Amino acid sequence: MSLVLDHDSNCLFCKIAAGKIPSRVVYEDAEFFAFHDIHPWAPVHFLIIPKLHIPSMAQVTAEHAALMGRMMALVPQLAAKEGCNPYPQGGFRLVTNTGAEGGQEVQHLHFHVMGGPRPWLRG
Ligand code: AMP
Ligand code: ZN
Repeated sequence: MSLVLDHDSNCLFCKIAAGKIPSRVVYEDAEFFAFHDIHPWAPVHFLIIPKLHIPSMAQVTAEHAALMGRMMALVPQLAAKEGCNPYPQGGFRLVTNTGAEGGQEVQHLHFHVMGGPRPWLRG
């Protein structure tokens, strides 16, 4: 059985993407949802998720290549919109924790995008 679902009704991030749990929205389109992390590590810290319930990077296959490419392309666009300073003096960090040993707590694929002036709380 595939772990990739259109939607998992028990998943926190599926509920956030559906507007069932409130969030500070950064961006939304038909395929993606982006919102501020509730415990930011950096002056800018938001998450980008696919609306498709992919549990983690471990389930990403060639079938998802185009979707992942579009998700990647959102990163610089939304980082600039949220106030990350321009590259190279500014920039941002892109992180995807995967699995327990990778430090993943929420089992719905997400990109952390962090930026803004140092020092940061972590990292
Ligand atoms: P990870 O450890 O990579 O799975 O990251 C999960 C992230 O989700 C953490 O940075 C949490 O602070 C964040 N988070 C958890 N619940 C919420 C929520 N309701 N709204 C926004 N961010 C959340
Ligand atoms: Zn989900």
